Amino acid sequence: MPTYRTPQRDMKFLLDEVFDFPAHYQQLPGGEEATPDMVNAIIGEMGKLCENTLAPLYQSGDEEGCKLENGEVTTPTGFKEAYQEYINGGWQGLSHPPEYGGQGLPMSLGLIKQEMMGTANWPFAMYPGLSLGAQNTIMMHGTDEQKNTYLPPLTEGTWGGTMCLTEPQCGTDLGQVKTKAVPQDDGSYKIAGTKIFISSGEHDLTENIVHVVLARTPGAPEGTKGISLFIVPKYLPGHIGESNGVSCGALEKKMGIKASATCVMNFDEATGFMLGPENQGMECMFTFMNSARIGTAMQGLCHAELSYQGALPYAKERRSMRALSGKKDPDAVADPLIEHGDVRRMLLTQKAFVEGARSMLYFAGQYADHMVVGITEEDNDQYEYWDDKLGFLTPILKGFLTEMGLECANLGMQIWGGHGYISENGMEQIARDARIATLYEGTTGIQALDLLGRKVLLLTQGRCVRDFTALLTRFGRRNLTHSELRPYAWKLLKIAAQWNYITTRIGMTARKDRDMVGTASHDFLMYSGYAMMAYFWALQAETAQHKLNDGGDQPEDFYRAKLETAEFYFDHLLPRASAHADAALKPTKGIMQMAAERFSFDYE
Ligand SMILES: Cc1cc2nc3c(=O)[nH]c(=O)nc-3n(C[C@H](O)[C@H](O)[C@H](O)COP(=O)(O)OP(=O)(O)OC[C@H]3O[C@@H](n4cnc5c(N)ncnc54)[C@H](O)[C@@H]3O)c2cc1C
Repeated sequence: MPTYRTPQRDMKFLLDEVFDFPAHYQQLPGGEEATPDMVNAIIGEMGKLCENTLAPLYQSGDEEGCKLENGEVTTPTGFKEAYQEYINGGWQGLSHPPEYGGQGLPMSLGLIKQEMMGTANWPFAMYPGLSLGAQNTIMMHGTDEQKNTYLPPLTEGTWGGTMCLTEPQCGTDLGQVKTKAVPQDDGSYKIAGTKIFISSGEHDLTENIVHVVLARTPGAPEGTKGISLFIVPKYLPGHIGESNGVSCGALEKKMGIKASATCVMNFDEATGFMLGPENQGMECMFTFMNSARIGTAMQGLCHAELSYQGALPYAKERRSMRALSGKKDPDAVADPLIEHGDVRRMLLTQKAFVEGARSMLYFAGQYADHMVVGITEEDNDQYEYWDDKLGFLTPILKGFLTEMGLECANLGMQIWGGHGYISENGMEQIARDARIATLYEGTTGIQALDLLGRKVLLLTQGRCVRDFTALLTRFGRRNLTHSELRPYAWKLLKIAAQWNYITTRIGMTARKDRDMVGTASHDFLMYSGYAMMAYFWALQAETAQHKLNDGGDQPEDFYRAKLETAEFYFDHLLPRASAHADAALKPTKGIMQMAAERFSFDYE
């Protein structure tokens, strides 16, 4: 069973040496609190909580799962105590304003905290994670009274939160939401309807749960234009213990994340309060969507990291046959798995992906910090500028990293051979838990459409690709004459040109053939993921090379491993991008020509 260890060295390499977070924090208003000592203390203390408390509950939580009895959900043994330890440490308010009891630290630190918690125990991390969604939405759209009522206990963590969007007939297409909200004389609403698949909908970790619910007022326009957002607490403030008509009808039985309660929630004339303007529920809900989706993108990294941490020691211990180039350990009965090329390919795929994903997410964290400053300083131009930049990264991070996280979780099982399939070894749980990440918070297909159809073609006519590829071009120019970094420079220059070329070609075709966006979007998303990760691997190689030459904070082996992993990424993973580029440019006919009835599997 994998034992989680915080990858502090890699985290600090990125924070201090690649992205210069100390300088980034000093230029953020309020960021001066996030000194290197403070950041180290946060990583150290959160690391202890994750390694000592959360990680040991990962497998037992899966085996025990959640239970529903008499409308009450019990989380697995140990979760309550762990949650108490988490909130006693003040962790829920890490990146939230001090006026509501938070510590006011930058959002990127919250993401780093999330990475550690999510790797140690993703299902546990979902409870405070969902509360963050509710916290952010209320902070952004609530009235002063709503903020003063709900934010202090949410920030403290004594109350939890949920996001209630999905209904039996719709998950992606929320324009079909049927839940009703009928206005009352006192300004409140009576909420009636059923929501399904609600994470943390009911549980025993907090004394109250604040549901943020999408519903329709009477006479509201059809579709997404007629949806409003409501705060519907399990217990009305001041009435803890008295039912407000919100109940858990069932717990879903599911493939993974079994310790996370996925609930059918019934709203039976429950009292709710409108959050934000009427009929603008979708816009309000989506305000923090870019940063919320980065949280789910993190899940790809978390499962890949844990699976790598489980696979690596096994590959060093387990012995099988001899290395093709001759015996590596002649005194032993056989050589360790890690001496075999194919096992190395799998381990390096995991390592390259994990460290590449972490760099992409930390970089996005800096954008998120700037975006939050725009919100808190009510500087709409700044908010939109950074939200726009983050908006381009988000579908790539969510779509590509969760797909790759799943691949890496599977590779971890593969490295364990048949033993990977056996539950007690803990590897198959990671693959089961990783599977959901490509589905919720917008499926991979929806991320792909958001990226290509909305962000790239509709909203920016390719500008966001041009802006991002300018970074690749800049890397290329500054390293073209560098003896070690020249190969990366050439490859990035080539990718910058290719990325813009396929964007333009798809855009031109889509003007004549509307199906083009739908048929090209998945390949465009995956191409963009590999291309973007190439940039971040080149950056890491550049930093490692300079530190090897001039001296850095990490041992020489660390920097050499970085260079070797970068080389692996460019030689063995980046070539996948070309296949996606080819497929993305193919005419729509190959996908769209077959009539729906010809998909028949009944050929009698
Ligand atoms: C464990 C779990 C936890 C969850 N937690 C929450 C939660 O806390 N709150 C909440 O509100 N919901 C939650 N969900 C719901 C989740 O967000 C939805 O299941 C998801 O958004 C997909 O919606 P759907 O299941 O209705 O699939 P559908 O929308 O029916 O989609 C089915 C398939 O069709 C594709 N598709 C749909 N429309 C299009 C289109 N226009 N173009 C191309 N492809 C399309 C999709 O990509 C997908 O592959 C959770 C789900 C699970 C399983």
